[in-house]
Amino acid sequence: MPEVKGYWQTLTEKPTMSQADLLNELIDEAEAVVIGIGAGMSAAAGFTYTGKRFTDAFPDFIEKYRFLDMLQASLFEFEDEREYWAFQSRFSLLNYFDQPVGQAYMDLRHMIRNKSYHIITTNADNAFYAATFDMEKVFRIQGEYGLWQCSRHCHQQTYHDEALIREMADRQSDLKIPADLVPYCPECGAPLEVNKRTEEKGMVEDNHFHEQKKRYEQFLAENQNKKVLFLEIGVGHTTPQFIKHPFQEMTEENEQALFVTMNQKDYFVPHAIRPQTVRLDDDIADVLHSAACKA
Ligand SMILES: [Zn+2]
Repeated sequence: MPEVKGYWQTLTEKPTMSQADLLNELIDEAEAVVIGIGAGMSAAAGFTYTGKRFTDAFPDFIEKYRFLDMLQASLFEFEDEREYWAFQSRFSLLNYFDQPVGQAYMDLRHMIRNKSYHIITTNADNAFYAATFDMEKVFRIQGEYGLWQCSRHCHQQTYHDEALIREMADRQSDLKIPADLVPYCPECGAPLEVNKRTEEKGMVEDNHFHEQKKRYEQFLAENQNKKVLFLEIGVGHTTPQFIKHPFQEMTEENEQALFVTMNQKDYFVPHAIRPQTVRLDDDIADVLHSAACKA
């Protein structure tokens, strides 16, 4: 603790400041900021998978399958390709192609506008693009709802066709799209599916993915011995191998680093980095908005 406080003036001087002020000062002090974004951030921006946003968009699917939320629905094994795309076309319009600007994302962008930063996110939505982030600084490690992959993963290439998605959404009836709109893999003829990672099959990772990964890894390498702020926002414990665990490991390897976690849930933090950890447990949207207003 004394060592970390030595590196981070903010933690020595003003222990009673608000969480928004604390966050601004820590960002200000950092030489580089690595930001990890999970589902809690998009929820904070209003892109929730439950409640009215879900029930308004999918009343017919809810009636047929009694889905409790959009996550459950998006992972469901639909009865055929026509039904799968009836759901996925509307899902990807809502969470990708027609996704509006989220205030929490705008606030974050404003707060870090003068910093050296890079972002990794497990969210496959389009929130960073909608909030006009520099997409060269964003790594979407879990795929994108706007991209497709071969369902057999026969080759490492993704596809996209926004016009076809819109046609699927327009021309569906009784939870099915017309059979002639179902997209198939040009290599092996298997149905295409939304670009996403599963535990059994992994994910199709093409050049677009590897370029993002390379830029992220390069940023980490360039800053590995600097005063780095690892800022985790709304990251739960569904896939800790992508953000939470690497952030904690990199913090442990760098005595100047600080791990800041914004989450109302109190997840386990390894003993070794507790002196280098700051937990901000107020509402994410409130803290970011308040911080952005002062930044
Ligand atoms: Zn294929």
